[in-house]
Amino acid sequence: MSTETLEFQAEARQLLQLMVHSIYSNKDIFLRELISNASDALDKRRLAGLTDDALRADDLHIEIEADAEARTLTVRDNGIGMSREDVVGLIGTIARSGTAETLRRLKENKNNGNNGNDGNKEQKENAASAELIGQFGVGFYSVFMVADKVGLVTRKAGTEQGVRWESDGDGTYTIETVEDAPEGTSVTVHLRPADEEDALYDYADDRKIREIVKRYSDFISFPIRMGDETLNSMKALWARPRSEVNDEEYREFYRHISHDWTDPLDVIQMRAEGTFEYEALLFIPSRAPHDLFQRDARHGVQLYVKRVFIMDDTRELLPDHLRFVKGVVDAADLSLNISREILQQDRHIQLIRRRLAKKVLSTVKDLMKNDAEKYRTFWREFGPAVKEGLLDRSEDHKAILDIASFGSTAGEEPTSLADYVSRMKDGQDKIYFMTGESRAQVENSPHLEAFRAKEYEVLLLTDPVDEIWVEGVAEYEGKEFQSVTRGAVDLPADEELSEEESGSYAPLLGWLKETLDDVKDVRLTTRLTSSPACLVSDAEGLTPTLEKMYKAMGQ
Ligand code: ADP
Ligand code: MG
Repeated sequence: MSTETLEFQAEARQLLQLMVHSIYSNKDIFLRELISNASDALDKRRLAGLTDDALRADDLHIEIEADAEARTLTVRDNGIGMSREDVVGLIGTIARSGTAETLRRLKENKNNGNNGNDGNKEQKENAASAELIGQFGVGFYSVFMVADKVGLVTRKAGTEQGVRWESDGDGTYTIETVEDAPEGTSVTVHLRPADEEDALYDYADDRKIREIVKRYSDFISFPIRMGDETLNSMKALWARPRSEVNDEEYREFYRHISHDWTDPLDVIQMRAEGTFEYEALLFIPSRAPHDLFQRDARHGVQLYVKRVFIMDDTRELLPDHLRFVKGVVDAADLSLNISREILQQDRHIQLIRRRLAKKVLSTVKDLMKNDAEKYRTFWREFGPAVKEGLLDRSEDHKAILDIASFGSTAGEEPTSLADYVSRMKDGQDKIYFMTGESRAQVENSPHLEAFRAKEYEVLLLTDPVDEIWVEGVAEYEGKEFQSVTRGAVDLPADEELSEEESGSYAPLLGWLKETLDDVKDVRLTTRLTSSPACLVSDAEGLTPTLEKMYKAMGQ
């Protein structure tokens, strides 16, 4: 069949341009990306082979071949491979949401402060872009940092025809059918000519390759071979004692499974022995993914059975409100053929899920005590998701409230509930709160006047989810939650009105009640100090923000 020339999707082209101009200084990582893709493809192949004998393969592995003379480097795997449609769809477009996100931020970055003729401007811009790429990663395209041409030959396991893809990264690629391709994928990188200024491009050198593989890909669970030498130790990180694994290894493993290039905030390692054995290695990221609040957001836990990868996105292993946690759970006693349906009903899996959830929350509690800054980062990024756990009947309410913090009239910094309770005034038996859209909006509310004047601290709850959980969660440490906008709030008054005085207001109150149609009742209050009047809800009524939310939803 003849060769076809196709264009990269527009966004892919832009990203390629950035790669070709290689603004990211750590070029070594292109090899890790190729190995990571090969490893993913081998995982898929192994999995497919479990249910389909025809796809079973022996000796799954990755091969690296360098030719210093020709200045090429080839990474080959006998994994799942790609069909022609796969190649066009996966390599020719930006299929990964993470990559699209990188690009969006890169553009934002370019649009910001783009005026003036500052000679440093371009440099600054590039540095910022490089940092972004460092944070998000760009997968396969990173190969164009070091290549002036890339060839890819692939055949999908179980199919007959192979595909050859080739591009020099300038906006188009060619694609053709080939007859003699082995199953799996091989990527050949034509290295750019060595630059006199930097000796960066010695990627065809065995020593350099060995060093990069050891550094970034040692834990990959398939052998990475060069000649007859295996370059990686293949040791599953979660099976090694924590004292034997260094931070760098944890970080690389985290990157591999999460596709997030920022370092994790914390690492959790667990092991259970006995009737149901498992090992878990979990990571708390340091940044919320952009899709944290999208309904179909991916969960971060992978399931392994005795070192064999079984599935991604294992929702059964952590509750929804901890969906941002990444990691691996390796369960010894499950069948390799286990399906999601079975997982959902498995009692042991439910048990693991409870223990993992507890452990994550207690880890955050430790952070709160021992590393205030990390804790603040955690709560800023994930607090709104974690609080969703207060909406269901989970047994974690107390643990979640323990690690929560909220804005407060006591100061600029958020406060924990324990600290709030410790500051409660003599005789105060409720935790006062007000919900709203922002701190500024809530702070200006007349509802706060009396609380301020009498120096009662009020929590300022400004996440949308706060509106909902405060309805269902009765108390913390025996203290009820009480909205300051609702019902009669019985702050002790400084001066009671005499009956005579109250009586003299009766005509005014009566007239107001008649005139204001939508208002149920009008009464005298001690809750205001400088505003003449304010609206309050019934004790059972909705808060103003909830009312708005329901209206917006058309209810
Ligand atoms: P990511 O690995 O994060 O999905 P990449 O840009 O690295 O993003 O790769 C894009 C896609 O191309 C992969 O998701 C995979 O479907 C496909 N792919 C890349 N390399 C291989 C390979 N060696 N074997 C099979 N598929 C591959
Ligand atoms: Mg990849």
